[in-house]
Formats: sequence, structure tokens, C-alpha cells
Amino acid sequence: MSHQNWKAEVVSIGDEIISGQRLDTNTQWLSQQLSHIGIPVHYHCSVGDDLVDHVQVLKTAIERADLILMTGGLGPTADDLTRQAIAEAAGLELEFCQAEFIKIESRFRAAHRPMPESNRLQAWFPRGSRSIPNPEGTAPGIDLQVPRPIGRPVRIIALPGVPAEMKQMWEQTVEDELRRFTGIDSVFYFHTLHCFGAGESQIEAMLPGLIERGRDPKVGITASEATISLRIATKGPSEIECQYKIAPTLATIRQSLGELVFGENGQTLTDVTCELLRRTNCRLVMIDQVFDGEVAAQLASPLVHLIDSQYGFDSLSQSTNDVGVIDQVAVQLAQQARLSAASEIGMAIVSNRLLDEKQPPSNIQGERAEIERNAGSETAVGRAEVAQIAVAISDGCTSEHWSFAYWGHSAWRRSRAIKQVLNLLRLYLAGRD
Ligand code: ATP
Repeated sequence: MSHQNWKAEVVSIGDEIISGQRLDTNTQWLSQQLSHIGIPVHYHCSVGDDLVDHVQVLKTAIERADLILMTGGLGPTADDLTRQAIAEAAGLELEFCQAEFIKIESRFRAAHRPMPESNRLQAWFPRGSRSIPNPEGTAPGIDLQVPRPIGRPVRIIALPGVPAEMKQMWEQTVEDELRRFTGIDSVFYFHTLHCFGAGESQIEAMLPGLIERGRDPKVGITASEATISLRIATKGPSEIECQYKIAPTLATIRQSLGELVFGENGQTLTDVTCELLRRTNCRLVMIDQVFDGEVAAQLASPLVHLIDSQYGFDSLSQSTNDVGVIDQVAVQLAQQARLSAASEIGMAIVSNRLLDEKQPPSNIQGERAEIERNAGSETAVGRAEVAQIAVAISDGCTSEHWSFAYWGHSAWRRSRAIKQVLNLLRLYLAGRD
């Protein structure tokens, strides 16, 4: 049976989850595991500790999914309703399982603790279900197949909410069980490329036909604080064959995007820039009048030194809108930094204004237009209204400089601007490499 035919739903249970008190990381984890073994997840659902809602959710899941993974509500207290809800939704009786009860009892005995009477509840199972061993907890899981009027039965797997128990049970029992059940024996393979310097739609336009539904390898695009990631996914009989299969797609992307691609498989701009510093073995001295030394702190490299300099700030304190002025100040500071510490590279970051994180940019319309057109790269839009940042890098032969506007939502414009600075350094170092 092909994996396209399977539909999984993950159901998380608990008032804590639906009230927002606790982040539902179990659903995320289970979905990742399911996708690794090739079972596509079609639905996520969270429900509170209410039996009627719980049964309703399960009935819906039984109709629309082939496999239901549940997490939570298997404990011994009155608000733990999973076993009861499964029984009701499937129209089954609950049965007491003496063998499971003995296991629960012996766990308490081994710990020299009296067993509370309420733990008896955990030995009740919907008729016809099997228990899933929980090696380090009291709540066994439930594994049940429920026949449907048409088609194959739906399989329900209920695991405890405690993440460590749930993960252990998945790893020791459920994963193999599901591989056998679905008959999926392919390897699922992913490779991610990370880009900076262009917006999501711009990147998509540079890759015509690649980000298309139904394509194999599949290329997915996501954006996070101006870093754009392309996830190339495929399946095949072995990892090597998957690598062969995705190689042409990787090559096309790298060729089309050129230096916009900075890294792969979780690498950050900081990782890549540090690696380039190591490879080129350049000592970098930095003056940072804008980000309080955060660029150097992120690099955290013995090759990078931050020096304190207020030089140049007075000349800019009246807020100049002339980008040429701050560019020149940046160049002078970068040259001074290099000479002062006798290092290979000097770098300076300056701005024509103190950055005010609380102030939204005055030209919101302009900001939106700029983000859509050109996220992450240089822009001329709104220069009159917003702070400008100039960056200069100087070595023994030349000095290069760039400037960009300090744009964006107050929650992420700072981190984006820092990434822009790191990206300029990365490109400069790549040129030297
Ligand atoms: P127990 O046998 O410990 O009672 P249980 O199956 O009843 O387990 P819950 O009582 O629902 O599980 O949850 C136990 C704890 O596990 C919660 O307090 C919470 O810390 C964590 N937890 C539950 N559900 C989730 C979830 N979806 N994501 C992350 N953590 C969770």
C-alpha cells in the first residue's frame, strides 16, 4: 500500500493544552515521527478534559483518518478520560485487565510505595484493545483497531501525556508496530538549504516550477525572520538513492540562487560566518555603534575583537539623512579599527540615529512595500523617515561599504538588521576565501 493512502490525525488531550497554559510539543514531536516513517499527518486536534467533547473529537477522527495518535489523559485521576472516550466513541465496553493490574501493582511494590486505589483505573481497557508497555510510568498505552462500515479499520494508539514516557513508548514499541502495519519500508530523506538577502516570493520566482505540488523531490519554502529555508524531500529504497535523486534539484537551486544560499541543514548565518573566519584565518576588529556589540557577541570567535569607540558619533548626532556621510564615517572607523589593532580586517557599523525599538517606523505603507519587494536586502524606500545603518569593511588593500534602512516590525527588525550585517561579512569573507 502506498504511503499516500494513509491519513493520520494527532489528538492531544488536556485543559492545560487548550487553555494555552502548556505548549503542545507532543503533537509536534509525534507529527515529526510520523512524517519520518512516511505517514502523512492530515489533522491536529486538541481537546480539553470533557468526556462529551472528547468522544465527539474521536468520532470525527474515526471518520476522517486511518490512524489516530492520542497523547494525554491516561492518568489515574477523574479528569483522565481517554480510555473511557475511546470506548464510547468506538461503541465498546471497558474491560478490567488483571494482567495489567498486576503490572501496575508490582511497579508500586518495587518502589516501596502503596498503590492509590485510583490507579486501578489504568487497568481498564476498551474491549479488544492491546496495551502498550510503559517501561517507566504507570499508565500503559492503548492500541485498538476499530472497524468502519466501509474500508479498512482505523487504528487508535493512545499514549500518556508525559513527554518522556510518550517518546520512550514510541521508540520501543509504536514505531515498529506502525511500520509493520502500514507496510511502508521506504527511507524518507530531507535536505534543507538556507538563504538570506531576498524575500520568500522573490526566491520562489527565481525557482520556476520547483516549488510545485506533486513534484518529486518536493521543494517546500518557509521564512523565519528574513531567513528563507528550502526543504527538499524525497523517499526511496535507501539513503544513498535519495541523495542521488535530490542532487539535480539541489544543484538547480544553488545555481539559480547563487550567493543567496548561505548554509544547509540548520546552519545559521553566524555558524557560516565563523567557519569562513576560521578558514580565512582573518583577525577581525569591529567597532559597533549600533547594536551594542551584539554582532561580535553572536560570532563569539577568538578571531573577533570588539573595540569601543565613540569617534564619529558626534558628527552624526544631529541625524543626517545623507547616506553618503554615514558611509564615509563607517569607512574611516573600519580603517582605524584595523590599524589600531594591527589586524587583517577592520569593520564598523554606524547609524545616523539611535535606534528606537519602541517607535514603529513612520511609513508603514512604505515598510510593507519594501518587505514584500525586497526583504533582507538594501533599499532606498523610506530613507527620509527611518534610521540608516552603514557597514564598512576594510583590509590592507580596499575598503567596502554598504548601507541599508532599519525597517520592519519592532519584534524582529533588530534581529533582521544583525543578520544583514552578518550576511555582508559572510559575502566579504567568501570573496577572500
Ligand atoms: P499521567 O499518567 O502522568 O497522568 P497522562 O497521560 O494522564 O499521564 P496528562 O496528565 O495529560 O498525561 O499529562 C501529564 C503531563 O504531561 C502534563 O502535566 C504535562 O506536563 C505533560 N503533557 C501532557 N500533554 C502534553 C502535550 N501535548 N505536550 C507537552 N506536554 C504535555
